[in-house]
Amino acid sequence: MGIATMICGGCGAEAPIDDPFRCRNAREGDDIDHVLSRVLDDENVAFPGEQSDANPFIQYRELTLAWQLGREHGLSNEELLGLTRELSERVADVDNRRFTRTPLARIAGIEEAWELDSELWAKDETNNVSGSHKARHLMGVMLYLQIAERLSVIPADRPLAISSCGNAALAAAVIAKAGAKPIEVFVPTWADPEIVDRLETLGARLHRCVRPPESRGDPCTAAFRGAVGQGAIPFSCQGSDNGLAIEGGMTLGYEMVAAMARNPPDRIFVQIGGGALASACIQAWREAKAWGIVSRIPRIHAVQTENTAPLDRAYQRVVARISADLPGASANGAHIPADLRSIAERARTLRGHADSRAVARTLRHAATHRSEYMWPWEAAPESIAHGILDDETYDWLAVVRGMIATGGYPITVSEELLEEARRTVRSATDILADATGCAGLAGVARLRRAGLLEADERSVVLLTGVDRQVEDRR
Ligand SMILES: [Zn+2]
Repeated sequence: MGIATMICGGCGAEAPIDDPFRCRNAREGDDIDHVLSRVLDDENVAFPGEQSDANPFIQYRELTLAWQLGREHGLSNEELLGLTRELSERVADVDNRRFTRTPLARIAGIEEAWELDSELWAKDETNNVSGSHKARHLMGVMLYLQIAERLSVIPADRPLAISSCGNAALAAAVIAKAGAKPIEVFVPTWADPEIVDRLETLGARLHRCVRPPESRGDPCTAAFRGAVGQGAIPFSCQGSDNGLAIEGGMTLGYEMVAAMARNPPDRIFVQIGGGALASACIQAWREAKAWGIVSRIPRIHAVQTENTAPLDRAYQRVVARISADLPGASANGAHIPADLRSIAERARTLRGHADSRAVARTLRHAATHRSEYMWPWEAAPESIAHGILDDETYDWLAVVRGMIATGGYPITVSEELLEEARRTVRSATDILADATGCAGLAGVARLRRAGLLEADERSVVLLTGVDRQVEDRR
């Protein structure tokens, strides 16, 4: 076993080094939640104590599968550093933005506008490569590919594939171009023509997937999986298709840890589509706690629109099952509370039982009976936050586990709150985030209205994606 390995949270299998993306035991309909997750040997690797480089893929290089693979196969630190810097430069050439530590700052303008008596901080991803956090996820994958190809661990001629019509596709096309690899992008027929234009300019090969009448399931996902079956690399930000994509996103979590280790925030609000960003943040804080870098992990709040909330539904089912199984549970222990205050109280109770057998039993059940908790959202997805309308949360179990362990809970938000969050960011800050990128802040707005933000707390939101229409006008 190497210093960094990929382990499946569903079946426990360790992935072979030439296929760290999707669990090989995954079978259609087996109802096991196969998602690979990067596990480090804590005794042989440490969180970098000092900030030595603004490029997160240099700063946190030793915490990656790619770096450890290179070292174990005899590449020197200098060779690996050179390769990382070279790829980072090519990204900057393609995108005119480079990977650098993203700003994390208090946003007093919003505190004032909302008359908060607690602190609000924002990590601003709108100037990240390709205009969102997605490029972080995929850069980690590309570094792995470059090193694995150099070592002949995997063949160099496999194309990349992704199913997306938004920020993930743009990020994938930028990183693919920087890595000089062909990429197939599967988009729906209704994809935004401007994004399609950009993808074509970046050299991506587009496939428009028609949704046949009355068919269930997304035709883009089906076509993407077909391409992967033919040998393409799943260059996806969805943990179930590519567990390694979580690792690159963890660099954002590490940056938060490094900036706030001495006084960790009380809450982190993360918008949830496929779940990769929240999963990455949770894992970064969990590792930091295991290393003794931080004394506690902030409460995690996963924010979804009430129009598409499969993660909220899964969390409520997990929690109901745990509650019925706790010692002294009453006959209605499995009752699912409807109001936010009761959900918050139950979450606080659960945190006290996070290491109990009842929690472990239910999480095990969830990992092996996925369809009882997570299935595609039935209603037609619609929201101004169109980037988080994934009908399933692919990385759901890691996020549910993280919320239970920290006393956090999911928050669903209305269109009105999403609009209020976007409007407030626009008027009270100079950050050009779009509605999807502000969705975590809508979660803050809901807790504020419910009176659940306590005085003197510190909350962090991630403003994840730039408003491309406003950006284009400048
Ligand atoms: Zn598995």
